[in-house]
Amino acid sequence: DLVIENVSKRFAAFTAVDDLSLTIPSGSFFALLGPSGCGKSTTLRIVAGLEQPSEGTLRIGDEDVTDLPSHRRPVNTVFQSYALFPHMSVLDNVAFGLKQRKVADAVARAKEALELVELGHLANRRPAQLSGGQQQRVALARAVVNRPQVLLLDEPLGALDMKLRRQMQVELKQIQIELGLTFVHVTHDQEEAMTMADVVAVMNHGRIEQMGAPRELYELPKTAFVANFLGKSN
Ligand code: ATP
Ligand code: MG
Repeated sequence: DLVIENVSKRFAAFTAVDDLSLTIPSGSFFALLGPSGCGKSTTLRIVAGLEQPSEGTLRIGDEDVTDLPSHRRPVNTVFQSYALFPHMSVLDNVAFGLKQRKVADAVARAKEALELVELGHLANRRPAQLSGGQQQRVALARAVVNRPQVLLLDEPLGALDMKLRRQMQVELKQIQIELGLTFVHVTHDQEEAMTMADVVAVMNHGRIEQMGAPRELYELPKTAFVANFLGKSN
C-alpha cells in the first residue's frame, strides 16, 4: 500500500496540504478529485519526491520513502504535457524511461511497453507524427517501462478533447487492470474520477473531505461540499 501519514506542505504562510493521511491499497485505481488550487498536484509531487513535505511521512509497501530522492522511489509520473523528446523516435522516447538504469534488454522492454498501449506499429515515428491521444499513450508507455509500483497521473487527459478523453479513460483503466499497478489519478473532472476509480478522495483546501467508493460518495455525501462538487443537490 501507499501510506501518506500526517503530511503537510506550507509555502510561506500558506498551507497547501493540511495534515493529510491516506492509505491507497496496492493495485487500486485511486482518484484524487477536487477544485483548482485544493492541493492535488502538490500532494502528487510530494509522493513523487519532487517536493519535500513540511511534515509527515510516506511509505510504499514496507519502505519508508520520505527521505528517498525521486529517482529511487518505485513511482513514476505522467503529466498533462507529455514532454516527449521531439528529435527521438517513439521507441527511443519509451526506452529513455530505462536508460539511466543501464538495462540490457532496453529495446525489447520498450517494445513490450509500446505493445501494451497498442502503438507497436508506430515505434519508428517521431512524436510530431502522432495524434494527441497517441502521444499521451507514448508518455504512458515511458512511465511504465521500468515497472514502478505506483503510477501518478496529474490530469493526464486534460489536453485532450472530450471524445478522445472519454475513449482514453476506458483505455487507461484497462491498462491499469492489466498491469495491476496502483494508479493515483488527479483530476478536477468528477465524471472522470467517478467512472474510472475504485476509490475517490474528494479534496478541498488541502484536506480530504471524504473518501470512498464512487457509489458511496454519490449516495452518502458527508458534507455539502462533496454533495455540490459531485453535482448532487441534497
Ligand atoms: P489545479 O487543479 O489548478 O492543478 P491543484 O489542486 O493541483 O490545482 P496545487 O498545484 O497543488 O493545486 O496548489 C495548491 C495551492 O498551493 C495553490 O493555492 C497554489 O497556488 C499553491 N502553491 C503550489 N505550489 C506553490 C509554490 N511553489 N509556491 C507557493 N504556492 C504554491
Ligand atoms: Mg494541479
